[in-house]
Amino acid sequence: MVKVNENYLKLPGSYLFSTIGKKVSAFAAANPDKKVIRLGIGDVTQPLAPSIITALHSAVDEMADAATFRGYAPDLGYVFLRSAIAKNDYQDRGCDIAADEIFVSDGAKCDSSNIQEIFSLDNKIAVCDPVYPVYVDSNVMAGRTGTWDPKTETWSDVIYMPCTAENDFAPELPKETPDLIYLCFPNNPTGSTITKDQLQVWVDYANKVGAIIIYDAAYEAYISEDNVPHTIYECEGARTCAIELRSFSKNAGFTGVRLGFTVVPKELKAGDTCLHGLWARRHGTKYNGAPYIVQKAGEAVYSEAGKAQLKKQIAYYMKNASVIFEGLKSAGYTVSGGVNAPYIWLKTPDHMTSWEFFDYLLEKANVVGTPGSGFGPSGEGYFRLTAFGSYENTVEAIERIKAL
Ligand SMILES: *Cc1c(COP(=O)(O)O)cnc(C)c1O
Repeated sequence: MVKVNENYLKLPGSYLFSTIGKKVSAFAAANPDKKVIRLGIGDVTQPLAPSIITALHSAVDEMADAATFRGYAPDLGYVFLRSAIAKNDYQDRGCDIAADEIFVSDGAKCDSSNIQEIFSLDNKIAVCDPVYPVYVDSNVMAGRTGTWDPKTETWSDVIYMPCTAENDFAPELPKETPDLIYLCFPNNPTGSTITKDQLQVWVDYANKVGAIIIYDAAYEAYISEDNVPHTIYECEGARTCAIELRSFSKNAGFTGVRLGFTVVPKELKAGDTCLHGLWARRHGTKYNGAPYIVQKAGEAVYSEAGKAQLKKQIAYYMKNASVIFEGLKSAGYTVSGGVNAPYIWLKTPDHMTSWEFFDYLLEKANVVGTPGSGFGPSGEGYFRLTAFGSYENTVEAIERIKAL
């Protein structure tokens, strides 16, 4: 008789954002006169930039003509896009990454959850705490995380690296040696970053212990400070220990359009096995590529006009970030993030739990944020606000919080 993958049954409770959604709907239904402002979910709100729209339209028209129609895309993605990525994101920054080391996909969420498939179930993962939940949950589904302890809200076979105010939200090298290390900088949810020197320590460590770093750089476009690395390949030795994940969602507003990529350098090995070949095999077997139309839109992200337009879009969100950061700080809150990332991470006042502060903010200010505890036990006592709202709503939300 058929049996399910029992690993799925180990996943605890309901998903963070569905709980938030239910609470907000209940509040809105009970208070139809109140205008609720949502600074919770990490989704963009600005429309696609004009050069991207133009590229989309012209790619659609190409599909209408037999001479320019495209069917299945090449396994790794179209060369025009992979070359643009290799040049703009890597070679122009002095990083040695070639177009054939780039695997185009439909986004970093899928890649960050699929990448564990090419590694043994015996491997032990290390994650920051708090963390983007996908890294852990995908490993739970694979059966790599042991048992769930509801009291500590941790998995028995996962190494947690607490990121709190005490260490400036930067993980420390773990005491127990991991095989796979998930790092995300600029960070979701804390909005923190680490310097190039700090990241070099991780690269050296991974090379020393034979671990692989899965580096999620989805928020790279939000970096404003010079000493923050845009890619892990700025660090020496990263080609032998790091896989990088990138997304077009946050830098170009592709959350609904869907495009991302993974970088697997040819030198990267686990034992004697080349991981580039393994990931290529996985990609070729289980995936049939991002749409041509969308890859053309991705190419436009790297055009001169596209770059200029997106710079403005990022600046729009970062102005919101500054409104939130400065507003909360002046109101006496302890805040971090918001400088190289569209997330502001604040300490809940008066020792409220993350969920208590969620309810308080929803009821008193009609503002929705995300409880830090939803991202891991070390997120307890913290709260995330995002800069992805409209400027007007962001200003209003902060005025309301300041008036509490
Ligand atoms: C938003 C986000 C992504 C991007 O996911 P897509 O599937 O490309 O939309 C990846 N990693 C983190 C940490 C994110 O917050």
